Amino acid sequence: MAAKRQKLTQQQKSRIAANQQKRLAKKAKAAQNTEVDLNELNLQPGIVISRFGEQVDIANLNGQIFRAFLRQNLGSCVSGDRIRFHENEAGDMVVAAIEPRTSELNRPTPHAGIKTIVANVDQILVVVAPFPDYSSIVLDRYLVACELAHIPTAIVFNKVDLYNPQTEALFQEQKSIYQSIGYPTYEVSCESGKNIQQLMGALTQKENILVGLSGVGKSSLINALMPKTEAVVGAVSENSRLGTHTTTASTLYFLPDGGHIIDSPGIREFGLSHIEKEELIAGFIDLTPLVVDCKFRNCSHLNEPGCSFDHAVKLGKVSQQRVQNFRKIFTSISGGN
Ligand code: GDP
Ligand code: ZN
Repeated sequence: MAAKRQKLTQQQKSRIAANQQKRLAKKAKAAQNTEVDLNELNLQPGIVISRFGEQVDIANLNGQIFRAFLRQNLGSCVSGDRIRFHENEAGDMVVAAIEPRTSELNRPTPHAGIKTIVANVDQILVVVAPFPDYSSIVLDRYLVACELAHIPTAIVFNKVDLYNPQTEALFQEQKSIYQSIGYPTYEVSCESGKNIQQLMGALTQKENILVGLSGVGKSSLINALMPKTEAVVGAVSENSRLGTHTTTASTLYFLPDGGHIIDSPGIREFGLSHIEKEELIAGFIDLTPLVVDCKFRNCSHLNEPGCSFDHAVKLGKVSQQRVQNFRKIFTSISGGN
């Protein structure tokens, strides 16, 4: 009896030891997990569709969507991020790692400095329309931000079904100004479907984002481009940190023949408040090559004698509108900021 008990105890002891070993191994693995061993763990590749506070909607390579938690200290994780995720013991999906980004779009925030809104964009579409009122300076501000982010950009002229003789003439002129700078342009109508397939061709296999003022038709474009079944619908989230209400959710939609398009309320009005006056010229790619011809090396291109900009306008090398907008935006950027 005693011997038996002794034997059992030994069995128990070794079982306890074995369990302890297992637990330790598990803990070690969990610790490794926080350092993310991409090879050893059973991590699946995926992409972030939309962020909701501390959770994200992610899609795997088959386009299946999951709501997932973020591993602690993961860092910034936004729509378009390529990630690795796994299912934990509780059956929850956990994003364990974020792959290096090829690009990111940022916007300044009142309290948190510069914040990344979306990642891995390789084409920006700036959407403009006759309604709400078109303003070339608004378009140019977007283009500056796109150029400073080093992301190829195209311009979508939407609502062409609403053109009247005046707006038709205006937009023909605008189209030629921006085409001659080198921006691809598309004239489309979500209402009639005009050129929507042509636009789709330009988006396919790319990682696109729509920007533009509210009301120009970004959501309508998503719906026109894709049958409803293709669209992944994400809810809009309100982030109420620090007492400010900012709508932050961006949503990624898969295109039927590859690639995706992100509609991001957070980036719709991405500002220029974080750029320096000296940086602005790099955002005007048609004016940048002219600066070497200015009389003064530190020419601000506003009204200095010998500024090459006015001469280039006279020669028809650049549009007066662009020079005027450069000057207006330059003046609007507060000194040294
Ligand atoms: P968003 O704020 O940029 O997402 O703009 P919406 O997609 O919500 O569109 C704003 C308004 O413009 C809606 O009433 C749309 O029906 C309308 N709209 C969008 N595209 C077109 C278009 O091509 N033609 C016309 N006539 N209206 C459009
Ligand atoms: Zn100059």
